[in-house]
Order: sequence, then structure tokens, then C-alpha cells
Amino acid sequence: MREVYLDYNASAPLDPRVFEAMAPVLAGEVGNASSVHRFGRRQAAAVDEARQHVAGLVGGRPAGVVFTAGATEANNLALRGAAEAAPEDRPRMLVSAVEHASVARTARWLSDSGVVKLDVIGVTPGGFVDPAAVEELLGPDVLLVSVMAANSETGVLNPVGEIAERVRAAGAMFHCDATQMAGRTPFDMAAMGADLVSVSGHKICGPGGVGALVGTRHALTRLSPLIHGGGHERGLRSGSLNVAGIAGLGAASRIAADERESESARVGVLRDRLVDELDSRLADVHQNGDASRRLPNTANIRFEGADAEAVMSNMDPVAVSTGSACSAGSIEPSGVLVAMGLSHEAAFESVRFSLGRFTTEIEIDAAIRAVADAVERVRSMA
Ligand code: PMP
Repeated sequence: MREVYLDYNASAPLDPRVFEAMAPVLAGEVGNASSVHRFGRRQAAAVDEARQHVAGLVGGRPAGVVFTAGATEANNLALRGAAEAAPEDRPRMLVSAVEHASVARTARWLSDSGVVKLDVIGVTPGGFVDPAAVEELLGPDVLLVSVMAANSETGVLNPVGEIAERVRAAGAMFHCDATQMAGRTPFDMAAMGADLVSVSGHKICGPGGVGALVGTRHALTRLSPLIHGGGHERGLRSGSLNVAGIAGLGAASRIAADERESESARVGVLRDRLVDELDSRLADVHQNGDASRRLPNTANIRFEGADAEAVMSNMDPVAVSTGSACSAGSIEPSGVLVAMGLSHEAAFESVRFSLGRFTTEIEIDAAIRAVADAVERVRSMA
């Protein structure tokens, strides 16, 4: 059987057009982007062009783009950078209960180290943050609020514009991890009033190991760097720039901004076909998360009575994922699904499907057959 990759939210394949943009930088060009000679200036020009595209993808300013080694670092820079530079009268931080580990664990670490006081914002059973829940926790002592744009496990979208409005009214900074949303649906940080936004290359068919934190002028002055050195990236991220990676992130951002509308429409049809077919072929299929407000490429499905890990190993070579994570030898259920009120059992029966730019109808039809067979096999063994 053919391999089918339905794990785009974990990492999307590199677009050949992105590879083309990166190849000359990797193969033929030399120079440090900080050098003043013509070689260095050529590298700097490639970086500047990428800055425009990354800013364009999220509605930010090119001068507000700080290139990092991915969204994990961007999230760390936002939270730890803000905490380190915090004024004494703003010791509190709010993060949602469904954030990626790079936000959730960073916030927890800051709290355990006594650097901030942390409050976790709960989510509705549909998996999104209610702006009223943020408002309840906000106060003049809050430094920063972090709520992701779209959840990586369920695809559920948060009302980040309404949340940003409340956060700004309280004088706090709003950080939004847009890693999964950027490139899939329109995102405009200026219109929405977000202060800091994280993005990642390998989620948008760009290279891995490169991303950015995009900030307003004011927000960036309120951060301390994580990495000290030569003062690159406005002093917020020292280190000679990864020019090929940055050129790749820029090209991926440009293509994603140009094509996200048509791509989302196409991928949404395939995702709906997958969900509808599984629902009609199998009994007791439940979708996790509010299906009326989620990314077009993602479905998180519970197959009642079928352990998700067993389903996954029975449907190889169709690649999907479960939200469970191994830590210290024990398997934990997805924190996202548990925060939405699912039992551990229900969480362990849930599978995430995430589609993308290169997913075809033939692949979806193959996946439907493989998943339906796997679920039936696992259920019959129980
Ligand atoms: N935030 C979200 C929502 C993610 O899905 C991921 C990747 N799984 C990250 C942050 C981390 O991104 P990176 O791999 O670029 O560090």
C-alpha cells in the first residue's frame, strides 16, 4: 500500500519552490549577513526580502521580525523575554490551557522559579478560549497573556481579536502563537492588536529549525534577549543569521500568503470527505473540538472503543498522530483533550488527522479504507 502522510501539523513537506529559493544560498553564496562588503550585503538583502514576506504573512512590520530557530524559541523569547524585563507591578502571566508545550512548559517553569505568578485560562468543551474567561483573570498586575491562534491537536480557532482587545485594555501584552494558523487562514496582527506573534518554517512547507517572533515596536522594547552576543536581530537574538533557512522561511511565507485561500478551500473539501466517510463507515465516531471554528486541514476524531495507538499501528503506512506524549516512561493523555473535559479513556481513543498542500484525493481515499479497517480490527480484538 502507498504511504500517505496526514501529519502536516507536526511537520509539512518542503515545497520544491522553497527549496529553489534556498539552493543558491546554500550552494553558491558566501558572506556573513552582518558584513559590509558586497558578499555580506547580498546575504543581508536576502534576509531583508524574507523579513518582508514573513511580516506580510501575519500583518506585522518587517522591522519587527526577529528570526529564531523555530516557534519553540520564538515562544520562549516572548514569555521569558517579557518576564525578565517585567516591571515590578506586573508579576502575573496568563496562558491558555491548550497551549503548545513551548508556551505551557515555559510559563510553568517561570512560575516554578518564582519569576511570574501564573494563571491558566480554561477552555470551553469546544476547545476554545472564551474572551470572558480572560477578562475575569485580567488585572493591572498582568504582564502578558498568551493564547494560540489555532490549536495544533484539534485545529480549533480562538477568538484572538476579541481576546487581544481585552488584554490591551488592561495594559498587558498579548502574545499569540500563530504557528498552526499562519499560512492556513488570514491572520493580521495589526488589525487584531496582537503585540507578539510566533511562526515556524516547517509548518508552512518551509524548512525546519527556522521561525520568527514578530513584534510591535513597543512590545520588542519590553523583551530581554535569551541569547546574548553580537547584538543581531535588534539585540534580541544574537548569532550569525541562518541565511538559507531564513530565505526558505521567506519564500514559504510568500507562497502561503498567496495560496492560502485556494489551498484551504481544496484541503477543507478533502478533510470533510475524510470525516464524513469515516463517520458513515464506522459506528461511534466523534469529532473532538468545535467543528464550526477550526482550521480547514485538521480533524481530531475519537473512535470509541479503539485505542488510538493500536489504530495507528494497524493503519501503517498512513501516518497520523495521537496527542499522547511519553514522559518518563509513562504515557500521558493529551493535555489539550483533557482540558476540554474529555476523560483519559476518550483522549486515548483520539487520533489527529492533518492534511496539507500536497494531500491528494487518492491519498484520502486510501486513508479512509486504511483507517476504517484498522478501527474495525482493533475493536474486534478488544
Ligand atoms: N507552537 C505550536 C502550536 C506548534 O504546533 C509547534 C510545533 N509542533 C510549535 C509551537 C513549535 O514549533 P517548532 O517546531 O518550530 O519549534
